[in-house]
Amino acid sequence: MIKSLLIANRGEIACRIIRTARRMGVKTIAVYSEADANALHVRMADEAYLLGPAPASDSYLRAGRILKIAKEAGAEAIHPGYGFLSENADFAELTQDAGMIFVGPPPSAIRAMGLKDKAKELMSEAGVPVVPGYHGSNQNAELLKRKAYEIGYPVLIKAVAGGGGKGMRLVEKALQFDEALTAAKREAKAAFGNDDVLIEKFIDSPRHIEMQIFGDAKGNVVHLFERDCSLQRRHQKVIEEAPAPGMTAAVRKAMGKAACDAAKAVGYQGAGTVEFIVDGSQGLREDGFWFMEMNTRLQVEHPVTEMVTGRDLVEWQLRVASGEKLPLMQDALSLSGHAVEARVYAEDPSNGFLPSTGRLIALGWPDDAAVRIDSGVEEGDVISPHYDPMIAKVIVHGETRREAMTALERALKGSTLAGTSNNIAFLASLVADREFLAENFDTGLIDRNIEALTARPVPSDSVIASGVAALMALDEPADAKGGPWAAKDAFQVHGTREMDMGFSLDGETVSRRVRFDRNGLSVMDEDDQWQRPDTRLRVLKAGRVVYVFDEGVSTVFAPLAHRDVEDGGGDSSADGSIRVPMHGRIIAVTVSEGDVVEKGDMLFSVEAMKMEHAVIAPKDGVVQGLAIAVDQQVGDGDSAMRIASSDT
Ligand code: ADP
Ligand code: ADP
Ligand code: MG
Repeated sequence: MIKSLLIANRGEIACRIIRTARRMGVKTIAVYSEADANALHVRMADEAYLLGPAPASDSYLRAGRILKIAKEAGAEAIHPGYGFLSENADFAELTQDAGMIFVGPPPSAIRAMGLKDKAKELMSEAGVPVVPGYHGSNQNAELLKRKAYEIGYPVLIKAVAGGGGKGMRLVEKALQFDEALTAAKREAKAAFGNDDVLIEKFIDSPRHIEMQIFGDAKGNVVHLFERDCSLQRRHQKVIEEAPAPGMTAAVRKAMGKAACDAAKAVGYQGAGTVEFIVDGSQGLREDGFWFMEMNTRLQVEHPVTEMVTGRDLVEWQLRVASGEKLPLMQDALSLSGHAVEARVYAEDPSNGFLPSTGRLIALGWPDDAAVRIDSGVEEGDVISPHYDPMIAKVIVHGETRREAMTALERALKGSTLAGTSNNIAFLASLVADREFLAENFDTGLIDRNIEALTARPVPSDSVIASGVAALMALDEPADAKGGPWAAKDAFQVHGTREMDMGFSLDGETVSRRVRFDRNGLSVMDEDDQWQRPDTRLRVLKAGRVVYVFDEGVSTVFAPLAHRDVEDGGGDSSADGSIRVPMHGRIIAVTVSEGDVVEKGDMLFSVEAMKMEHAVIAPKDGVVQGLAIAVDQQVGDGDSAMRIASSDT
């Protein structure tokens, strides 16, 4: 068994590999970019080495530098994780040339499966069913269009070098072909530097079902059953489960054989995934699935397989890479219960799934031993714009599919996330979708229901009351005398005070009637009923922003910008230094170096969570050391400027 392992990756997969390596007594060596200097995978590893600046091309994709570090650190093997260099045959080869073990298949197998057209040709020869289509090298546009006609619309144009759903276009009729071809080629060129495409029949009611396979150096190949990854958005997986709904022993056997044949045809070793597109229109059939591609690495969704087989796939990878034979042969492998994984991303589903960056000021998962969380970040860490915005994978196991889905919904709703947008509410709606639960779905399910699935949940009255109470408390009205209650429009009758309170609710300005009496605070809802805060809800204050968590959804409350005027705005200190109140983007700077300002003048404005926060001068003085500019990304507490007293 190898004794030391360099992990050429970051985030959750680096952390996940380190966990197993540690358990097996293997020394772990991390590498990191400048942006990841304090990342969890660096904190977890036995040793860590800097690769270079944040962009992947300057860090995690620098094959030469990684190999040099591995040599110097005495690593016996390199695990590439997924993404980055994991499917780079040259890197695998260079690793071996340098006398180290590449934890993955032989470079020749990576090459054979690297381009979708060549792979399909090879699979055809090996007797594996492939999607009907054209995968020749002639890329003449007229020829491609004629092939599309012969295959029969709808067709899919795919980049041969594609991955992650990029360079792919669905074409429903001939009229759309030219435009789709141009777009697919443009995208493929930009993403992969190769604009060759293939044309495929678009399978009706498509389901994505893949087989996890494993090979060893002795020529043994087994499969560890299937995963259904049909819930997709822009051809990318969102939720994955095992076993596949509707799978029969006969279809599994046929698919398992096809997958193992595919692996054997390229002399495969280690972990791999053979992806099939399945015609789900009449249930799963032995003649109703076709090879799409093979991913020659560990897959993002591998934990689902680990949960239904009770095996640790990273352990298998390390054993096989060390030259051991497969820990179990086909007959000894079995399935137990049902597992499902949801990918939690820093993105905004109600805004076109726009990725979101920022500091995770809250990150809490349900305290439940049955829930597996694979994450590369902890509370306080930053989701940077440089890499994939995945925050975590939430994986659960149940006796039945229903049980697993209910457990996943509960786990999602029991988590607390704040600081970036996230897709938790979207995922929770998805696992509770009626058709999905009824096992009646295909890869189009998300798109068909996109409006309902991504609608922003409306905060309940008790959430609003709790948020308003917390906002009021920011200005210490414990006895309801000072703070906001001192406002001119507040009135008092028999010890009961009432006022209209304006505030920002998820970025929208709203106003509510607020009352303070001997029972405490209540807020009038839209039906003129007084609502009390719900003490069971988790409330978090970060600077002058309040988050209320309910069922996995966070609602963001903030005072209106003019309120900052009364309080003096962002953090200020005796020496007049002005700090940025929260992580975000500078959208306006209304002063210049040397300007004379008066107390209450606006200094700058920062946008965070789609809300604007104006920061104003806490005292009269002169602007010095201006350190911010429009469009700059800033962090909570960054120095913005100093207001020096005018007489000094
Ligand atoms: P799957 O999601 O089924 O594992 P994909 O091919 O879609 O397969 O990609 C795997 C993951 O690898 C993606 O989720 C993405 O985060 C990551 N990834 C893919 N390509 C790159 C790349 N060039 N650089 C960094 N990460 C990548
Ligand atoms: P990538 O390398 O980007 O993962 P794939 O070839 O694996 O590309 O396809 C990605 C997704 O596109 C699949 O998971 C599936 O949902 C859809 N897809 C691919 N080929 C077909 C097809 N022939 N018919 C219908 N859907 C398809
Ligand atoms: Mg794929």
